[in-house]
Amino acid sequence: MPETKQIIDRAEKVLMHTYGRYPLVLERGEGMYVYDNDGKQYLDFASGIGVFALGYNNPEYNKAVSEQLCKLTHTSNYYYCLKSVEAAEKFTKASGMDRVFFTNSGTEAVEGALKLARKYYYNKHGVADSEIISMQHSFHGRSMGSVTVTGTESYRIPFEPLIGNVKFADFNDLESVKALVTERTCAVIMETLQGEGGINPATVDFIKGVRELCTKNGILLILDEVQCGMGRSGAMFCYQKFGVKPDIVTSAKGLGSGVPVGAFAATEEVAAALVPGDHGSTYGGNPLVCAAVSKVFDLFEELHLLDNVNSVAPYLTETLLKIKEKHSDIIVEQRGIGFMQGLEFRFDVHGIVKAGMDNGLITIAAGKNVIRFLPPLIASKADVDEMAEKLEKAINAVDKEGNLK
Ligand SMILES: *Cc1c(COP(=O)(O)O)cnc(C)c1O
Repeated sequence: MPETKQIIDRAEKVLMHTYGRYPLVLERGEGMYVYDNDGKQYLDFASGIGVFALGYNNPEYNKAVSEQLCKLTHTSNYYYCLKSVEAAEKFTKASGMDRVFFTNSGTEAVEGALKLARKYYYNKHGVADSEIISMQHSFHGRSMGSVTVTGTESYRIPFEPLIGNVKFADFNDLESVKALVTERTCAVIMETLQGEGGINPATVDFIKGVRELCTKNGILLILDEVQCGMGRSGAMFCYQKFGVKPDIVTSAKGLGSGVPVGAFAATEEVAAALVPGDHGSTYGGNPLVCAAVSKVFDLFEELHLLDNVNSVAPYLTETLLKIKEKHSDIIVEQRGIGFMQGLEFRFDVHGIVKAGMDNGLITIAAGKNVIRFLPPLIASKADVDEMAEKLEKAINAVDKEGNLK
């Protein structure tokens, strides 16, 4: 096998420089652990950014995907296929939505949701040019529509002109949303629990208030659950924890648990706005990824993943709070729900994340100052203990400004 340094040098010559990558070459995974090119083991509390809901290398998942691989991987959407039907039935049942469209990624799910909202408005009012309200500090993906509704200026400005008619309210400030509503507003889009923006959960009052505001004004509520959905909160979808229902939901990441797939789903009335010719995707929801999605839903039940999240998450919270108390000079706050939690530091956390890797722990930053914990949904209390032990070493490896000693 080529040496780690050689692989990194080759990568730096041919891959676009769109990521500040850590000098880690990953080779294989097993359960809660990934292994690098030199065979070093890492406890993974990032799950490939919330993707590996089942952990690595689940044998039943592998079997379902490889069986489909050897049978039929692709049909195009001009024909039916049993696996897509099964995946759609399980997705709509779990989300409480009526119809679903499968995409290849989270950003495509958001694009689809935005198109659906605009088409619904167009059908209802006979005019286009509708407006969308999004939130500050939100993240919705990297394609043009998704970038437009992402609440971080540096992600947007270099790519202007964007899709237009998007305004930003302050997350968890209902009055700021109300102030932006006009008769042309077609949708409010938000994450139920903001991920990339720093692990900011919606408050119950805010999300219920936005739901009511939307219903009263005939505005569609789009909840982006690409990261916080698929069991991460301890409910199949995070909005179920809050007791609200969106008109459109987006999903990806844990949905495929390794294969690239996303989805947007809607109520019958809203979904009816899209008719043949309005939207499509060559690969979207092909039999290979749908075999994975279908098996993921089965394994959620077989492995009692929601029960596991609900029984281990309070221990994760408690553990992170203890770490916060111990290091109260450098840690500001612990936030999050279920297996989607964060610790906010007074400084840039990339030094600690790096030191974690040196100590065999993978975590990720959310923004500059927050370390994000997104373990596979199979994580146990013992895994939380092991994480805490390794994180402690990583924290002690940096100075009071967060720089590696
Ligand atoms: C990751 C993410 C996306 C984008 O998903 P991709 O699969 O990377 O395109 C969209 N919304 C949220 C909330 C996300 O966390």
